[in-house]
Amino acid sequence: MGLFSRKKITSRFSDEHEILISEALNLQEQLLANEDFYTHLLELSKTGSIDWNENQLKQDIEDYTENLPNPMTWFVEQLKVHGGYKRQEIMNFVPKGFGRLMYSKTTAISAAGKKLQLNSKKLNRSKFSVANTLIHERVHWLGHKHINGQSRPDNCCDAAYMIGDLAGSFLNQFYGGDEANSAKTICGDLKSYLEVNDLPT
Ligand SMILES: [Zn+2]
Repeated sequence: MGLFSRKKITSRFSDEHEILISEALNLQEQLLANEDFYTHLLELSKTGSIDWNENQLKQDIEDYTENLPNPMTWFVEQLKVHGGYKRQEIMNFVPKGFGRLMYSKTTAISAAGKKLQLNSKKLNRSKFSVANTLIHERVHWLGHKHINGQSRPDNCCDAAYMIGDLAGSFLNQFYGGDEANSAKTICGDLKSYLEVNDLPT
């Protein structure tokens, strides 16, 4: 401490949150090692129901995937190469001052290739819900962004939501998850896909 010490904008997680995050990381890892998850992602993408409208992908990804039958093949490959988040890539952010106005409802802040910032005020939820967030945010980490603001209903058929929500369904079906996807707006086409494939909606 001293005259030149800086104000911290991030802080440590509580012990309770550390446990929650470590359990969620574990689920994330198991899910991303599940080959069926990728098979379904590719099947789902073939139905044409994922919104790949322009400006969602970093330019270099956009250029690269232009030559592919379907951008999901790239995302699947990258998820396999990079895996999910590691603990050291996750930071706590506590919305303060002006940030409170902007970010108090935000569960996580992420950007391509950057550390994930989890709002510890929004961690009063299950490890399944946090695992779903990790998967969703990892898609942003790879270079995807929402183009219709930040609200779920306006973006629910884009890649980050589709991948995160399929993950949610898998967590419920195979890993003891209890997070009802039905409690939130999911893409109508994803809902139909899950029904046809006997996966929880
Ligand atoms: Zn997002």
